[in-house]
Amino acid sequence: MIVGNWKMNGLSAPSRALVSAIADGLRATPNPPPVVVCPPFTQLAVLGPLLNGTGIALGAQDCHPAPSGPHTGDISASMLAELGVEYVILGHSERRRDHGELDETVREKALAAMAAGLTPIVCVGESADQRAAGEYQDAVGWQIKGSLPDNFNGIVAYEPIWAIGSGVPAPVQDIADMMGFLRAELTRQFGEAGKTTRILYGGSVSGRDASDILPIAEVGGALVGGASLEADAFLPIVRAAI
Ligand code: 13P
Repeated sequence: MIVGNWKMNGLSAPSRALVSAIADGLRATPNPPPVVVCPPFTQLAVLGPLLNGTGIALGAQDCHPAPSGPHTGDISASMLAELGVEYVILGHSERRRDHGELDETVREKALAAMAAGLTPIVCVGESADQRAAGEYQDAVGWQIKGSLPDNFNGIVAYEPIWAIGSGVPAPVQDIADMMGFLRAELTRQFGEAGKTTRILYGGSVSGRDASDILPIAEVGGALVGGASLEADAFLPIVRAAI
């Protein structure tokens, strides 16, 4: 599965052009993997109808934990579901940084997403300092314990913060080690269900290295930031997943 996280990018005209170019590319690609685009909230209603029949699913980048109520400026999971949104990214490190999101909030958001029929994509990942201090497994282990509800039914994205936006993905061996660790943690926490939870890697994935990253054991796809903003950069990653 290849998921494009557009972050805070995308006015209407270029967003439409981007999904139509991705759709064209997918039509020309035999047996493409599942593809999800996660534009900003403002583009969800614009793009939803354009995705019908393209094989591209719609995702959002956040939701509020409450079903409705006095939360000025927030968006609920059911509002997303009504627009045809199927996935929602939760607990991205940029939200943890910019909005002080804690594991507990992310867990509540995941519950709200599941209750509305959405598939949460919960992000975890250590900082450069935590990696340098050798605390990266502890850090990610705590995030997994704190951010995923007991009945979690969704996707986990491992995104080392130091690799995001750096232009250089984490080394293959580091990804492989963390994937093994995450699978063990998920299995410990969720039993049988944890054995099949899809795990994505995110952090500077591009067409150059996708074919090195995607075959790593336990990697179930990629969460792509910068390279999801142009079809010419995104489609080679999609093709590397076949
Ligand atoms: P980049 O691919 O731009 O490093 O972003 C990764 C990311 O944060 C996806 O959620």
